[in-house]
Amino acid sequence: MKSYFDIAGDGGSGIVAQVARQRSRIDAALSPIRHRVAIASGKGGVGKSTLTLQLACALRARGLDVAIMDADLNGPSQAHLAGLRDAAIVPGPDGRISLPRTTNGIGVFSLGSLLHGADALDFESAARGESHTWRATREFTLIGELLASIDWGRLDVLLFDLPPGPERTLQYAEFLGPDTAFVLVTVPSDLSRGVVARSATALLRHGSRVLGCIDNMSGYYCRDCGAVKPLFAETVDTAVGVPSLGAVPFDPEIARCSDRGLVAPEIDGNLVTHAVDAIAGRLVELLEHPTPLRIPNPAEPPASRQDGLEGTP
Ligand code: ADP
Repeated sequence: MKSYFDIAGDGGSGIVAQVARQRSRIDAALSPIRHRVAIASGKGGVGKSTLTLQLACALRARGLDVAIMDADLNGPSQAHLAGLRDAAIVPGPDGRISLPRTTNGIGVFSLGSLLHGADALDFESAARGESHTWRATREFTLIGELLASIDWGRLDVLLFDLPPGPERTLQYAEFLGPDTAFVLVTVPSDLSRGVVARSATALLRHGSRVLGCIDNMSGYYCRDCGAVKPLFAETVDTAVGVPSLGAVPFDPEIARCSDRGLVAPEIDGNLVTHAVDAIAGRLVELLEHPTPLRIPNPAEPPASRQDGLEGTP
């Protein structure tokens, strides 16, 4: 019997050429997109999907063309959050998948538009009962197929809503490549920050660009008195190891609207909207200035901005 090491190349399966073909289709589909940002955490339930949609809304409100790829195939939240659970996923005239859109024009692809109720994504497996051995490969093949087959259009920003888990985050970093920057989401507890710090370390070690981290549910926004009250322990010792992009309080109105699939314009302007908008502004700056900003020398003429995001005020 041949051992694994006796198999030369791809064993005659043609898999290497297939992967290369898929990769070039993905590259072609994503090439009109100016910036790709993955919203990750490591920890589940910290508000990663909610903030992905809120950030998309804030960027959209700044006039940018934005879309979301819900990469959490088995826990797809974006269709629900964006009010697109019943959106039709259909091919357009050129055979590519047309992107469903929210009422404020954000393109959202989420398997939640296809999987209803408690349906779970299932992959056929050649080895019955052993589907776990194939799962990651099948998942990434499916994500690759979707990325290559969706008509993304000319986007300013494509946000990826990633599944939780530091090792999944790293797998996605490898799959999405160096053109995708990362934002990490945590809640201000030592427990969550510890896990998210692990994701940060893995990403930085891999050489990914990490734009920073967001503290979500940083206090409870009381709509009756307008004050932000403590929600977690007031002192947190664990550092995430990447710069902070800002903090967003817990707002019961956001939770209510998220559950009902009402996107940002339907939520009245409030503390959370302002906090997310400030973070979106920081993101745009970081995406626009991939190298650290230089302190301007007043003796030098101002440099012209070559790659300003269209629509940015
Ligand atoms: P994750 O994607 O990290 O698993 P979700 O985005 O699904 O987390 O959020 C978990 C729950 O917390 C959801 O019900 C969501 O509406 C709620 N939530 C998240 N962030 C906030 C916030 N800042 N204010 C109010 N509710 C929030």
